Amino acid sequence: MLHSVHHNKRVALYARFSSDLQKDRSIEDQFAELERTAKRFGLQADRRHYYADRGVSASSLFDRPGLTRELMGAAARREFETILVEATDRLSRDRADLFWLAKRFNFHNIILFTPAGEVSDMQLTFDGHSNEDFIRKLAVRVKRGHDGITREGKVAGSHCYGYDLVPGKPGERTINETEAAVIRRIFAEYASGASPRKIVAALRRDGIPSPSGKAVWNYQGILGSDKAATGAGLLHREIYRGKVVRNRAKSLKNPDTGKRLRRLADPDDVIVVEAPHLRIIDEGLWNAAHAVRRQRRVQMNPSGVVKPVLGRKPQLLSGIVKCATCSGGMTIVSSARGGQIGCSNARYRGTCDHTKLYDLGTITSEVIDKVDQELTNPEFLKARMKARALELAKAEREEGAERQAVQRQIDRLNVQIARLVDVLTEGDLPVPELKEKIKAKEAERVALKERQRLLGDANNVTGFPSACMAEFGKSIETLIALLKRNPDDPHCRLAMGNLIDCVLVHPTPKKAPYDLSLYCRVSAIGNLNLFPAQRSHDKIVAEEGVNPLFGTGHAVTSD
Ligand SMILES: [Zn+2]
Repeated sequence: MLHSVHHNKRVALYARFSSDLQKDRSIEDQFAELERTAKRFGLQADRRHYYADRGVSASSLFDRPGLTRELMGAAARREFETILVEATDRLSRDRADLFWLAKRFNFHNIILFTPAGEVSDMQLTFDGHSNEDFIRKLAVRVKRGHDGITREGKVAGSHCYGYDLVPGKPGERTINETEAAVIRRIFAEYASGASPRKIVAALRRDGIPSPSGKAVWNYQGILGSDKAATGAGLLHREIYRGKVVRNRAKSLKNPDTGKRLRRLADPDDVIVVEAPHLRIIDEGLWNAAHAVRRQRRVQMNPSGVVKPVLGRKPQLLSGIVKCATCSGGMTIVSSARGGQIGCSNARYRGTCDHTKLYDLGTITSEVIDKVDQELTNPEFLKARMKARALELAKAEREEGAERQAVQRQIDRLNVQIARLVDVLTEGDLPVPELKEKIKAKEAERVALKERQRLLGDANNVTGFPSACMAEFGKSIETLIALLKRNPDDPHCRLAMGNLIDCVLVHPTPKKAPYDLSLYCRVSAIGNLNLFPAQRSHDKIVAEEGVNPLFGTGHAVTSD
């Protein structure tokens, strides 16, 4: 449970329908979403405190009865301790208004929440003009809109193999009989015991275009990652049995790398709607195919415990090992001799000629040796530190320029506000208009001061390299000690992922020694903590073993 301090506090939900982005169902969708969020935060929602403004824009605070009269009135009577909105711009898009609200919430001891968490009053004054924030909020709205479409039994999101879009009717689909026949064929062959590789070979032989339009069917496209939850493969798409499912998995962007990961969504978020008109596979065939799939899993893993299957267990080098010929991922292709890996494109797609297989154990120990040799070499570290210090100095110069610009703007506002106050006391202009102007300028000044605070004082970068180098060297020693003790330690995997961008495996003749090159993450050397606290609540279901804190494209997976 997040925000346990606020656990069990009473919450008011506020939704606003605005004509710019939503359809009419939007208020209900907003409340449905807010209810789930409240539950996630442990807040107690009460239907008496659902407030909404229908059909009014966020630009003016004072002709919105739901917000100003009802909600603020109840807030003054202390009928709840928290308010939850989908985004702060639901309250107002105007910075001065948000500031006005923040002051009142503060006065009534009310904490404002959005799905991202508690909103500080400073942040509230800021939200009015944060572009990045706007994009994030837009994404939430798109998702919420999609959820609404799903509840109506329509299909949200992109095109799905087996169906055609209906022109002029967003969300509606009709079955594409040509593609449906291919899907039925795949299910039938799978259910009769054909291996995915055989199915793929036959599809290619018959020249049947794959869902991407090219004639390269691949095995993963059919079976997916075999984690039914993510439903990536054709075999797992429940729409083929006439069920529209949304939010089974969610896609998150790793803030450090910008790469996307698929994770299991909150079970409360999953929406299933019957859509019999979209059924392609009858229930009997669906069940037969999935019985075969389950049986195969049991054969691969008789104990029924998920872990023991080789490669299901996250490997130290998960997601790091790449083929030097095609830059594709290396995959565990056989469990012989403790696991053998090979280029996945060469193995399953025939688009790469690097067909040699490598012992995973040998690769792992060679990588550990290389880390030991290269990253503890003082000359190498010194050179890296120097480069890093130069980068930081450059960033510092850029921040310095912004700091000066902010200060100049604050000085200007000080003068303008003082002048307006003078005019106010002389009484030449109408008072409400002047007060409005002063309020807006004050809000702007508060936002700028907050920006100034965030920029902080100038950092002193001198003396950086030697101190950091010692720290980094210690981290590397820790890593090597851990690796030698137990390479499967999850902390090792985490640190390796933070440290190493990829390990390239160069093709070598049969029986020749392996030829590897190691690529470090540039930012790792200098100021990155290789062992940050692991966030245990992150459930990773993407490709097996993708590290929560970094996402490199191709995982080392078993098949
Ligand atoms: Zn390759």
